[in-house]
Amino acid sequence: MTETTVLQDIYRAIRDVPDFPKPGILFKDITPLLLSPGVFRSAVELMAAPFRESRVTRVVSIESRGFLLGAPVALALEAGLVPIRKPGKLPAARGRVEYALEYGTDALEMHQDAVSSGDHVLIVDDVLATGGTAQAAAKLVRAHGAQLVGFTFLIELDFLRGRERLANERVEALLHYA
Ligand code: AMP
Repeated sequence: MTETTVLQDIYRAIRDVPDFPKPGILFKDITPLLLSPGVFRSAVELMAAPFRESRVTRVVSIESRGFLLGAPVALALEAGLVPIRKPGKLPAARGRVEYALEYGTDALEMHQDAVSSGDHVLIVDDVLATGGTAQAAAKLVRAHGAQLVGFTFLIELDFLRGRERLANERVEALLHYA
């Protein structure tokens, strides 16, 4: 199969759900992809591929759909897997970063001993939208003294221009929606 055919299969495995979780949002549902092991495996391999030579030691994945992709990407790169979560979910000593939302702020946490200087970190999430979440995750990783090698997303919503907030970083995404 050519790479174009594989990508077409991955596009077909994403379901658009209008007005979820609120009116006006077109939600990109990845659960049909998870139901097709062959297509899911291809997506994971293509997300990991650009970073095979980057000596990744930690894959940091963002709650919660990021975990579904981060775990297999970590195995593909033979790297440790680190969850970044919403406040109050991680049990041990944590680092924390706050970030601005359209209205108010939110926060992300990561276990303090999960990443340290000397680590090469790849950040994984399902969707790059405005880039606020990814930017906050990068800040948390850097606060632990680690080197960020880049980001890999399954989906980029290009029209929201999240990539611009991650300027100077390596940003890879498999599927693009203009
Ligand atoms: P942002 O911080 O705006 O880049 O939002 C990224 C986070 O929100 C990711 O963790 C995504 O899972 C989620 N997200 C944002 N927009 C969508 C969308 N249209 N469909 C599915 N998930 C989305």
